[in-house]
Amino acid sequence: MHKNISRSNKRGGQSRKRRRKNRIQLCLNLFMLVCIGVIIFCIGILKNRESTTDGDFRSYVRKIEYIADESKSGGNAQGESDGALGHFDSKPDNFDDEQENFDETSEGSDNGWQLTLVNKWNPLPEGMETEIVELSNGERVDRRIYPYLQKMFDDARAEGIYPIVRSGYRTRQEQEEIYDDRMRDYQADGLSEEEAKTETELWVAVPGTSEHELGLAVDINADRIHSEGAEVYAWLKDHAHLYGFINRYPSDKTDITGVANEPWHYRYVGNEAASEIYKSGICLEEYLGKVGR
Ligand SMILES: [Zn+2]
Repeated sequence: MHKNISRSNKRGGQSRKRRRKNRIQLCLNLFMLVCIGVIIFCIGILKNRESTTDGDFRSYVRKIEYIADESKSGGNAQGESDGALGHFDSKPDNFDDEQENFDETSEGSDNGWQLTLVNKWNPLPEGMETEIVELSNGERVDRRIYPYLQKMFDDARAEGIYPIVRSGYRTRQEQEEIYDDRMRDYQADGLSEEEAKTETELWVAVPGTSEHELGLAVDINADRIHSEGAEVYAWLKDHAHLYGFINRYPSDKTDITGVANEPWHYRYVGNEAASEIYKSGICLEEYLGKVGR
């Protein structure tokens, strides 16, 4: 009897041990599964990052940083999350009411002002006078393009896309400051003067050759509250020509424009030219027949 009890106790002990062993095994298996899950998740993230880290994307990031720096140096140091930044709902001062009507602007009666070519081989015309208007965030543009820009932004917002003007008109001095700041940054990073110049001029136009000094170009970003950059760039790419704007520096024309791909830089050229440039997939230099130095 004692023998039987002790045997059954022994058996009970063994089965407890087995159950404990099973539980440990189960925990180990669960732990392994969790580890495998985490590894798969991490690989997924890395792959996703790789697929978007192409040259263009790196360019976007770099340029956006530059624009942000530039807004600081330009005294417009509002943060990215400031909803007021770049929203120019309010009518600029001294803006004639008749110009507000998008359909009645002076399209057609042009004297070619909107087709002025400015690039590294064609500097700004001497003695050019620009009448500018100030937007609600302090950025400025040529008065003549304001109604088109406003209409484009209104329509974008109606479709749930929220662009902002990050940078518009710049005086020669402002362009010089941006250029010099950029040079200094690169030299501080250890680049020689020559290397810093090459790198700077990939992103910043030499003063006197920037379309921003014309007042007809705007760098457009997302407000980062309702929209992200890629959404805004995609919308602009498909719609800007309807308002007379072109994506001025497309990725496949860098050898002609002399400027890296800039999906945020839009230039007003008028409806006719913008439609033609958009439909033919050409750049402004090609449209004007002024390719080359
Ligand atoms: Zn620009």
